[in-house]
Amino acid sequence: MKITETGEFLVNYSNKYFSIESPIEQNKRHIIVLESAFQQYDIMPKRLGITMTPNFRNYIMVSPKSRVIRPSKDRFDTSMVIKADTLFTTIDKYVDNMAALSVFATASKITSFETVKAAAQRLATLHKPIKIDYRKRFGIEDKLMEKQIASPTTEAQEPKKFFCCKCKTTISEKVASFCWNNKSRFGGRAYCINCQKTINE
Ligand SMILES: [Zn+2]
Repeated sequence: MKITETGEFLVNYSNKYFSIESPIEQNKRHIIVLESAFQQYDIMPKRLGITMTPNFRNYIMVSPKSRVIRPSKDRFDTSMVIKADTLFTTIDKYVDNMAALSVFATASKITSFETVKAAAQRLATLHKPIKIDYRKRFGIEDKLMEKQIASPTTEAQEPKKFFCCKCKTTISEKVASFCWNNKSRFGGRAYCINCQKTINE
């Protein structure tokens, strides 16, 4: 991955650079959505009857095996782009810094792990995975499909199953879509998460 001085993100696939949408900007939009979710729903724990307000930090995690070419920090700060295996260290450093600045030192802001976990679970229940209507996308009429897949069993009621093209294990639509959306890497085939790691890395 290469990040230019103007904040453009380029990804290298078989010795060619492809421009991708800036994950920093994507995250900013995600933070706006999260902020409104926290405002709309009762997610955060309360302290003395007052709902705590969350702080958002914009981080982009990349594979520990990937190479990131960065511009100099004074040109464009990319310190939020971190290797996934350094996440805990990054959080620890951030917390240490806060403690040093005594912003976080007040006991009123310290919450138990269980409380934080419950808040995270409340947030997670708001998640609605995107359902892609492939029939609509490819202009397939419903009537035509019904004829072809007409089946007397109740199987049609079950969630769609997909299979890894390498080891044939069942994979979710989400995992399959991820592969299809990364055509340059997976060549339009779907792999399970384990097999994905063996492809072009
Ligand atoms: Zn597999």
